Amino acid sequence: MIYQRSSALFAEAKKYIPGGVNSPVRAFKAVGGDPIFVKKAKGAYLFDEDGNKLIDYIASWGPLILGHAYEPVIKAVVEKAQNGTSFGMPTEIETELAKLAISMVPNMDKIRFVNSGTEACMSAVRLARGYTGKDKIIKFAGCYHGHSDSFLIQAGSGAVTFGSPNSPGVTQGTAKDTLLAAYNDLAGVKELVQANKGELAAIIIEPIAGNMGCIVPTDEFIKGLREICTQENILLIFDEVMTGFRLGKGGAQEVLNIKADIVTYGKVIGGGLPVGAFAARTEIMDYLAPDGPVYQAGTLSGNPLAMSAGLAMLTELNNAPEVFKSLAEKTAYLHKGIGKVLTEKNVPHQINRFGSMISVHFTDEPVVDFASSAKGDNDTFKKYFHGLLERGIYLPPSAFESYFLNDALSYEDLDATINALKEIDL
Ligand code: PMP
Repeated sequence: MIYQRSSALFAEAKKYIPGGVNSPVRAFKAVGGDPIFVKKAKGAYLFDEDGNKLIDYIASWGPLILGHAYEPVIKAVVEKAQNGTSFGMPTEIETELAKLAISMVPNMDKIRFVNSGTEACMSAVRLARGYTGKDKIIKFAGCYHGHSDSFLIQAGSGAVTFGSPNSPGVTQGTAKDTLLAAYNDLAGVKELVQANKGELAAIIIEPIAGNMGCIVPTDEFIKGLREICTQENILLIFDEVMTGFRLGKGGAQEVLNIKADIVTYGKVIGGGLPVGAFAARTEIMDYLAPDGPVYQAGTLSGNPLAMSAGLAMLTELNNAPEVFKSLAEKTAYLHKGIGKVLTEKNVPHQINRFGSMISVHFTDEPVVDFASSAKGDNDTFKKYFHGLLERGIYLPPSAFESYFLNDALSYEDLDATINALKEIDL
């Protein structure tokens, strides 16, 4: 495939935008080469500026669970836009989306909408600190909770792709309140909790991690976290920015059967428009301004276009929950197909999968945390990524990212992907 125009557009973008992109992972730094510039997308396919058609496995990094330009979402947004794009005043649709979202997820009474996953996580931690009157938090190495200061401590996703998981610009003062544990290491968490007794406001976790590849928690680990939090009066924050409304109606809380104290959302909840949200029981949420002392705000929060996209998307998922099963089946099919080809090629690999999240790691060892994920061979990943890209298949351009399947993908698309892999020298 030819990517000439994309390369030219990238060269131009670099003159005016740092690194030519508005979010680092897009820049292909981890895999080399120039990023693809998208012209439009429909269903499971991206159409780029060179006229290539690509099978898309990122779905805008998760939101487009039903495929690109999904008709009910587009219709809702276009209709809404006729009446104005922003008011900074209350609108009825905010309550409609709040009501629907809360009815779909377990254990939550109230929800507040923000503009991104970053804002959702940042606000959830502030709320946890305000509510508990404590300062410290525990996060897990390789988990990404957005780019606010407290989280850029051994973060996953782009932060680790670029080898700067501890970002300059985050003060020592902020960093000291973020304690680090290894994913799936309950004993490590227990030690940290004992060493910081009475000082921890929250433990924040991606309940299924997606930012160091896809990593699934053991039962013992996730149940253990819940127990520790309850015993020690620490709030358990599930960052469901990726998993919310993707793994099932009720997200990871439902599929893992664990109740979190605060849950953050993003991606699917905005149907492809910039939305995030955080939710909790009334007693916690009422700590927020204007009723409570913890301040949190946003000019564009609850924006009518974003709410209409979210409402259209969640309505579809609520009415047709079989989509979660169909997505998981497609992902399992892809898993099996990729696994078979890599085994036939004698390429050491691990494939991690949960629901419609999947990642391929080029290593012999099971991938259960950041350290094991980092052992993946990036040279093989680069060949795998570029080999597929040349054949019209778009994967996340970093080994530390999960793929997100969308329901517009057909079994023919999955077969095309598996067959393309057969042709690649790894
Ligand atoms: N939390 C998780 C688990 C994420 O995956 C992301 C982004 N991929 C974020 C938070 C931050 O969301 P956003 O990029 O919308 O700020």
